Amino acid sequence: MTRCAAPAATTSTTLVCGFCSTGCGLQVHLRDGEAIGLTPAADYPVNAGMACPKGWESLAVLNAGDRATEPLLRDARGHLQPVDWPAALATFCRRFKAIQQAHGPHSVAFLSTGQIATEEMALLGSLTKFGMGVLHGDGNTRQCMASAAVAYKESFGFDAPPYSYTDLEQSDVIVLVGSNLCVAHPILWQRICLNRRRPEIIVVDPRKTETAMAATLHLPLRPKSDLVLFYGIAHLLLREGWIDREFIDAHTLGFEPFAAHVAAFTPRHVAEVSGIDEATLHRVAELIHRGRRVSFWWTMGVNQSYEGVRTAQSLINLALLTGNIGKPGTGPNSITGQCNAMGSRLFSNTTNLLGGHDFANAGHRQKVADALGIDMGLIPAESGWAYDQIVEGILAGKIKGLWVIGANPAHSWINQNTLRDVLGRLDFLVVQDMYHSTETAQRAHLVLPAAAWGEKDGTLINSERRIGLMKKVARAPGQALTDFTIFRSIAESWGCGKLFTRWENPEAVFRGLQQISRGQPCDISGIAGYRMLEEAGGVQWPFPEAAAAREDDARLENQTYGERRLFAGGRFYHADGRARFVFDMPGRMREEPSARYPLLLLTGRGTTAQWHTQTRTAKSAVLRKLAPRDLYAEVNPADARRARVRPNQWMMVESQRGAIKAKAFITPTVPAGSIFLPMHYRETNQLTLAHFDPHSRQPSYKDCAVRIRPLERWER
Ligand code: SF4
Repeated sequence: MTRCAAPAATTSTTLVCGFCSTGCGLQVHLRDGEAIGLTPAADYPVNAGMACPKGWESLAVLNAGDRATEPLLRDARGHLQPVDWPAALATFCRRFKAIQQAHGPHSVAFLSTGQIATEEMALLGSLTKFGMGVLHGDGNTRQCMASAAVAYKESFGFDAPPYSYTDLEQSDVIVLVGSNLCVAHPILWQRICLNRRRPEIIVVDPRKTETAMAATLHLPLRPKSDLVLFYGIAHLLLREGWIDREFIDAHTLGFEPFAAHVAAFTPRHVAEVSGIDEATLHRVAELIHRGRRVSFWWTMGVNQSYEGVRTAQSLINLALLTGNIGKPGTGPNSITGQCNAMGSRLFSNTTNLLGGHDFANAGHRQKVADALGIDMGLIPAESGWAYDQIVEGILAGKIKGLWVIGANPAHSWINQNTLRDVLGRLDFLVVQDMYHSTETAQRAHLVLPAAAWGEKDGTLINSERRIGLMKKVARAPGQALTDFTIFRSIAESWGCGKLFTRWENPEAVFRGLQQISRGQPCDISGIAGYRMLEEAGGVQWPFPEAAAAREDDARLENQTYGERRLFAGGRFYHADGRARFVFDMPGRMREEPSARYPLLLLTGRGTTAQWHTQTRTAKSAVLRKLAPRDLYAEVNPADARRARVRPNQWMMVESQRGAIKAKAFITPTVPAGSIFLPMHYRETNQLTLAHFDPHSRQPSYKDCAVRIRPLERWER
């Protein structure tokens, strides 16, 4: 008689997706505690049973052959060789300390990511700044949403996207700006499809994107004319008296100067600049006026601009002018990119001191020091350099050591050739990543193997401020460790481990961050730990303790687990409670198309199956099938004719900085005079121009001049 083995125990658990900022819940099915598959969580408030292809393939990308499974150290012959963790940690500390001794403490910097847990970001930012004496550190979140963060701070007094996703279902006019929502945030597009109010959907985008095709009105404006366009809409709203004067008087500051500013943006002028005729401009203003619930949404088409902050604020101004804020279906609403961009904005200790505090404020430093049980003197009194300043610092020989965590700047940074040269100048480059094959890891002196999403615990904060859980449902391969464990191990090796004795595990850190957040707009002191996040399907910030909630409730619609939006009582975070109208004169592109380079290069998301530099999505056979393998460029038929380029022909795309090969996708969806390249291919940023918003220091990825020519057979 044979004995039957006990049946394997099958359970499931819900965790938040680790790709984009939508923050969908994924139900992971487990056998004996190990993930065997997943389905979109039917009862998660964000996605209600839906997921895009990336979410479905979240587990598949963990099993790639190029996972970093052991530390790698470059030997004297220039080859990366396996070493054990003690040797890796000892080398990390010895080399960075030697650089600091020779060139000063600020000669070592770090570049992090919006893809790791909030608790890991907080530990990294605290280890480097309070323990290692590092001042300069930033995240790749600078590349996607810094402009929105600065816009909100200046306008509202705090970086506070005010909305809930439910607003997508409750608007009757939805204005989408520089956002191909169908492709970039498909689950949010699905939420619009659930809207029963038959909303007007106005898409503002130079390209006729998938989203523009589904709109009720598409404004194919000239690239970089968006700021002028929105000042022009404000002009019309004012001229027609279609404004909410009661709201403006009670809750804002700066209205009169703003009204004077937009007086110059007459319909005729705006039509000339934007290419949108006067009748259509008037129609847009009227739709906004007639809408009872109007919401304005934007993504990278606005943020990734040399005037991204002011453009975001021009949308905030429209919401303030018309009182479309703090009510269902309204808001000036920035949608972020990475799964934890919002965590980075508040808790990474880079541009802000932990919890949205200010490094320069002694009271804030004391509060954080007390909460962490450390000497206030360890906290720097200034925030460090932004990403581009760190790059410049390397070029200037001021930064000699760099630690890159979960980012791939050798692919994604603007004007890639310069960046690669910059990385080559470093005395010591450490890359901590789940893959050893990224363009940046391949240039490292030391590679630290990191666990991925699904292999560790922590929290992520999505675009609507919802704090959700990610969980360990799979074992990290080989010797890979969680980022949290790596940071703790480095603290011990560096000799500052005592500072972090309270930081035992991610949940202990979360409790510490709750304490630090007390009294801040992002106060989360009322969340009853990870258990509440699990039960509630995530919780939006703020969620202060009950007493604090009563004081704060003028800013909240209600204080429940349910979906909540900010500013219901019209009270903002500036000391006087008023929002600001912020505006400026529109600027100019640094490199406009010319006779030599007659086309403007636009970049952006390619397909729903691709994510950023494709380090993860290219590992899934399913996702590879859903996206073109070769780099392609969308070219208008008129430009293709002029350049003698035929459909699917290989062509050369050249800017002043480089030349790349791309297949011609000839389509009228891209306007004449422009071409579009998806950002996911390693070649794209060989062309882009290092140009930044002066307020947010976010790169302007969508303004450089290029030319095209067909490739001869021998050139392919
Ligand atoms: Fe994940 Fe974003 Fe796709 Fe949702 S939309 S499944 S969060 S990648």
